[in-house]
Amino acid sequence: MANTAEETKVNNQIIENLFNKCEASIKAFDNLIEKAKNLTKKKIVKDGSIDNALLEKEQFLCHGFSWLASYNFALREILNWAKNLEKNKKSFDLEKLILQSAFGEYLSQIIGGISMCQTEIIRAGDFGLTDEDINAFLIDEVKGLIKYGNTNDVRMQIAKHIVDNNYGNVGLEDETLEMIKDQFKKFSEDQVLPYAHEWHLKDELIPMEIIKQMADLGVFGLTIPEEFGGLGMKKIAMCVVTEELSRGYIGIGSIGTRAEIAAELIKLGGRDEQKKKWLPKIASGEILPTAVFSEPNTGSDLGSLKTRAVKEGNVYKITGNKTWITHGARTDIMTMMVRTNPNEKGYKGLSIILAEKPRGTDKEPFPAKGMSGSEIEVLGYRGMKEYEIAFDNFETKSENLLGSEEGKGFKQLMETVESARIQTAARAI
Ligand SMILES: Cc1cc2nc3c(=O)[nH]c(=O)nc-3n(C[C@H](O)[C@H](O)[C@H](O)COP(=O)(O)OP(=O)(O)OC[C@H]3O[C@@H](n4cnc5c(N)ncnc54)[C@H](O)[C@@H]3O)c2cc1C
Repeated sequence: MANTAEETKVNNQIIENLFNKCEASIKAFDNLIEKAKNLTKKKIVKDGSIDNALLEKEQFLCHGFSWLASYNFALREILNWAKNLEKNKKSFDLEKLILQSAFGEYLSQIIGGISMCQTEIIRAGDFGLTDEDINAFLIDEVKGLIKYGNTNDVRMQIAKHIVDNNYGNVGLEDETLEMIKDQFKKFSEDQVLPYAHEWHLKDELIPMEIIKQMADLGVFGLTIPEEFGGLGMKKIAMCVVTEELSRGYIGIGSIGTRAEIAAELIKLGGRDEQKKKWLPKIASGEILPTAVFSEPNTGSDLGSLKTRAVKEGNVYKITGNKTWITHGARTDIMTMMVRTNPNEKGYKGLSIILAEKPRGTDKEPFPAKGMSGSEIEVLGYRGMKEYEIAFDNFETKSENLLGSEEGKGFKQLMETVESARIQTAARAI
């Protein structure tokens, strides 16, 4: 007979029969998600396919469903991680505590509400799930995990391990990745940690010597194919490296994001000559890229951005304002999203341009004609500096259009941000 929440036994904060309870909870979650999916589908599907107007109307629900599905996937994967450790006789107390804490938290949020952003919370009831559906999900195993999985005592126990420098076994099970992890852990401990706090307090750019060492270690070309001078590794290698670098300093872990965005944009959307020209230089760290998308009134809703690029002869003249541009000054190439077609107000009028610029310094951040700007001082996430940048007929060669056709920018970026998001998540250590 299954334990009730009251009967759930806990030994030194660890729930007994933890794996079985997690397994049963995933099944209950699968059933719930199937019901939520069908209810969501009913609201957005017309004549057998998703209707854009309905999708727009129901974006809260669809956004919520994607959160629910992500929680489902995340719990399944964290259980697989723990089971693999157990199979290889590597599961210890800390890893079990992490597992039950994740289940405890996520399962309770499914009922109590998932905070999708500061202003939006999705609850099971929002999908139209009935009391009966919710009660069917709240089996004893789920209740036990909600009650005992992520208590304050559990979190304190996890914190004690961390104080002892034990962060848990990530279970890479791959010699090369383990080696890379050790190498970057050492780099962070020796070259970053002793100095990072001072860089932060002084609001300084990360020293170029450090960036040079990172380039020599292959940080900027990790996932660039070997034929273009990179190491041709998978995204997991990028995550391992990013985690270790971010452990030292968030700015160090983030500097590779810009290279990742630029390289992925060029790899997926660039012409052959653009790949040959830029990828080896990005991989070697010879050039540093910056991502120039956001505008003063346009962040999430990038499709409506206004910065204009007008083609005149063999140049584009760019005019408009960009903001929150990380590492905007001390970089050599901007992956810029601009509007090339003013008659098309939405995403279809956008293009990406790989605009070269001279590298700036603290004294002279934007030594380029048609480009000016100033630093946005931030409390955290320092080391690269954020800038507001104004473009006034800034010129770049028309051959710098990414790919061979205007109007493809938004789609090119959407394909690319998948990998930038993974890298960004890996920084959150
Ligand atoms: C430290 C830092 C570094 C950055 N670096 C860069 C960079 O290098 N390059 C670059 O181009 N940009 C950069 N940005 C900008 C960043 O990409 C934007 O801040 C982000 O896209 C959000 O846009 P916004 O600030 O205009 O907020 P908004 O889009 O106005 O969002 C404000 C709030 O509204 C919510 N919201 C937005 N749309 C919806 C919706 N449809 N439904 C419900 N809620 C919604 C959001 O979740 C948020 O809580 C950086 C930002 C920061 C803070």
